[in-house]
Amino acid sequence: MHGLIIIHTGPGKGKTTAAMGTGLRAVGAGLRVLMLQFIKGSWHYGELDGVAAFGERFVIRQMGRGFVKIGAEKPDPEDVRLVAEAWAAAQQEMESGNWDLVILDEINYAISYHMLDPEPVAAWLRQKPEGLHVILTGRNAHPTLVELADTVTEMREVKHAYQKGIQAQRGIEY
Ligand code: ATP
Ligand code: MG
Repeated sequence: MHGLIIIHTGPGKGKTTAAMGTGLRAVGAGLRVLMLQFIKGSWHYGELDGVAAFGERFVIRQMGRGFVKIGAEKPDPEDVRLVAEAWAAAQQEMESGNWDLVILDEINYAISYHMLDPEPVAAWLRQKPEGLHVILTGRNAHPTLVELADTVTEMREVKHAYQKGIQAQRGIEY
């Protein structure tokens, strides 16, 4: 098996949910799937209950506290600490041999807000276990990661309901 490095980035909707769609396909093919959600933690996303039925074959874990102040000059040290912890956990899980596909949800966002250095992530990915598939999601994927990835998709925003003032809908946005 040739483990792929895949990136879902760009401003349009669909990055995280496309990764979960791949997770669903992977589970059906007998692969074991782990999604680690960087940043996320406060909202209860539908997918957490959705994958519960798969037991240990498809696991989603939230590693953040849910919101990060954007536009602030420097990220909150508590968020930086949680991101560092999430990356440490990610490496451990990816090296464990317990998973065939690991999704690092919003890791690109954490890197773009300077909460995580892209270099160690790139270095780890260059020497990842051969058969392991990794998906990295989030806006503003770092050029170094884009360069080393096998497949990169940029979601382009044509329009979004939010712009009409329509609130986030349960089951669709979260
Ligand atoms: P999804 O989780 O629906 O696949 P995403 O991962 O592409 O979306 P994120 O940047 O992670 O998008 O944003 C997370 C949340 O913001 C989701 O609830 C998503 O529906 C919503 N969202 C995505 N794109 C936009 C947008 N252009 N404007 C407003 N909200 C958006
Ligand atoms: Mg997302």
